[in-house]
Amino acid sequence: LLELTGIRKSFGDHEVLAGIDLDLAEHEVVALVGASGSGKSTLLRCVNLLERIDDGRIVLAGDDISDPRVVADRVRSRIGVVFQHYNLFPHLSVIDNVTLAARHVHRMSKTDAAEKGLALLERIGLGSKAKEYPDRLSGGQQQRVAIVRALVTDPELLLLDEITSALDPELVGEVLDLVRSLKEQGATILMATHEMGFAREVADRVVFLDGGAIVEQAAPDAFFDRPQQERTQRFLARLR
Ligand code: ATP
Ligand code: MG
Repeated sequence: LLELTGIRKSFGDHEVLAGIDLDLAEHEVVALVGASGSGKSTLLRCVNLLERIDDGRIVLAGDDISDPRVVADRVRSRIGVVFQHYNLFPHLSVIDNVTLAARHVHRMSKTDAAEKGLALLERIGLGSKAKEYPDRLSGGQQQRVAIVRALVTDPELLLLDEITSALDPELVGEVLDLVRSLKEQGATILMATHEMGFAREVADRVVFLDGGAIVEQAAPDAFFDRPQQERTQRFLARLR
């Protein structure tokens, strides 16, 4: 579904992505792990065209979305994104937060967007919060609303960047449960995470980035129990 080939990105003379090759199959969940500064967020931002790559190719379902002629908004309507800081609009109700982009960027009608948004909120037990404002919700609830917002338009691909790292520990579980259920429903997900337990449990494949390059990738059990590369072993040892 997603093919990244030779992705390079520098900020000034600092090369942050040093030639990334990575493919995701449909329904696959891939966890990007690596030390702070290894390039995980930058890679996700490149896929969503928030950053222009310097070199390489990004192909989504057969379309070269790294072609400079593509309209970024049209690509973004096919990709759902959730970042660490949920960034709900404080002056909009939950349901308006959920439907805003769907209506304005993706041109869904108000009724369609509201119906879809409400159904999704109900599915995660937040239907009764639709008219509330974000500050009346817990951090975990807000982050789940942000995920619902990314789902309203039926994206082909979901990008999740450290979606639990701003949460109190007791709220992490409910967000991870939601991601787990998205996986069960067949979502294709590329996620950056520091939660190794979660990567192990949910990902089909774990990809370790170091210095903007993929050092090692494997199925979770092999990755965590039998890392092959010295750099991976050192990274994992530091977490224990
Ligand atoms: P973390 O685990 O802390 O989230 P990360 O793996 O997501 O780290 P990135 O945010 O991708 O890392 O950053 C990779 C490198 O790129 C860092 O050295 C960062 O300072 C640099 N960087 C990222 N964005 C920019 C920018 N807009 N301008 C300059 N440098 C940047
Ligand atoms: Mg990051």
